[in-house]
Amino acid sequence: MIELTGKDDIVRAEKKSEGEEKRPFSPATQAVHGRIEHRKPNMNHALTTPLVQTATYTFANTADLCAFMEAKMWGGVADRGEYGRYGNPTVRAVEKRIATLENGDDALLFPTGMTAVTNVLLSILPTGSHVIFTDDCYRKTRQFCQTFLQRLGIESTQVPMGDYDALEAAIQPNTRIIISESPTNPYLRVADLNRLAQIGRAHPRIKTIIDATFATPINQRPLEFGIDLVIHSATKYLSGHNDIMAGVVIGEAGLIHALRQSQGVLGGVLDPHAAWLLERGLKTLALRVQQQNRTAQIVAEFLETHPKIARVWYPGLPSHPDHQIARQQMNGFGGVVSFEIAPVPGENPLDTTARFIDAMTIPLIAPSLGGVESLIEQPALMSYYELSSEERLTIGIKDNLVRFAIGVEDTADILADLTQALAQV
Ligand SMILES: *Cc1c(COP(=O)(O)O)cnc(C)c1O
Repeated sequence: MIELTGKDDIVRAEKKSEGEEKRPFSPATQAVHGRIEHRKPNMNHALTTPLVQTATYTFANTADLCAFMEAKMWGGVADRGEYGRYGNPTVRAVEKRIATLENGDDALLFPTGMTAVTNVLLSILPTGSHVIFTDDCYRKTRQFCQTFLQRLGIESTQVPMGDYDALEAAIQPNTRIIISESPTNPYLRVADLNRLAQIGRAHPRIKTIIDATFATPINQRPLEFGIDLVIHSATKYLSGHNDIMAGVVIGEAGLIHALRQSQGVLGGVLDPHAAWLLERGLKTLALRVQQQNRTAQIVAEFLETHPKIARVWYPGLPSHPDHQIARQQMNGFGGVVSFEIAPVPGENPLDTTARFIDAMTIPLIAPSLGGVESLIEQPALMSYYELSSEERLTIGIKDNLVRFAIGVEDTADILADLTQALAQV
């Protein structure tokens, strides 16, 4: 006898009579089940989504092939596969589940977060157009705008996060995209989504995009504020186990359809097995994120009063510049806490900070975030090693900065670990 978690909720909703308004399911329930119609039995009556690990699909005979091609030519939707780069049922099921979670029409999966970012920008921006992005953003997104897009004759302007006057002033007649992260990496700045959406809506040709990797749909749903597209590196919280790479974009059906067409040309598609693992990870998304939110808040409060910590960056703290806006638009403040180790007289801050990181025993030293394992890094050495301290400072990365991406380990164990490691600084 298989008992589905949260099944009672679904039965209750289905029983309600037509006249009665159905209560929308909470993200925790959606993460486990997707949409209710997804509960229709699949071909083997298996509970889980079947893994269709195939590169191509076969036709019974020429008539079968021609019927498919006719349907495709006239815009009909043939309920079958053609070739792996144009779609896969396992991948499709996960796309629908993520669209539901983000409260969007549709979603499109990619093999990495960066392929999602680059495909979206390449597909929407014509030569001669202009993109605006906020600072304190994922380094490779910035590099893509400043090098690749530049080479294609697409200009970009970087504006300071939180400066909406500068953002409006940067808009040109050829601006097509405003892209921001929220929360950002590594300072967890939070964009005012209402304001951003409003600015975008005042210019009908501009699409607003939020990379919401750090938030997850459990903590924040940017589409509900009027943002046009949401992007995630599903490598992080959505899959949640540090074992696959994936990316996803969610938005209005027509836009996602157009992006799907260009994905078929650009060629970056998610492997079905990775999609299958992503779906498994999604089922525990709410549990994981709630635990990560809780521990991160406790850790941030603990660090803020610790004498060996110079500054803590966490949107759940009243001291964070975006605390008010985060409180208004987020259900939780996320699992990443950034902080600066107080300087030790006569010692290079790079070394002091490294001593602290090396003294921690639970978190592993690795790039990435959002998985069940806590990860810790010194951004100056992990992502910006080749730059000098002065160069790093010009882009806001201090040598004593630590980014702590909290996993699902016991909160008390993490606090004890921080306590003993800071005693060694
Ligand atoms: C990791 C990350 C990306 C890139 O995603 P990949 O899956 O590593 O390609 C983009 N944006 C943010 C905010 C990220 O954290």
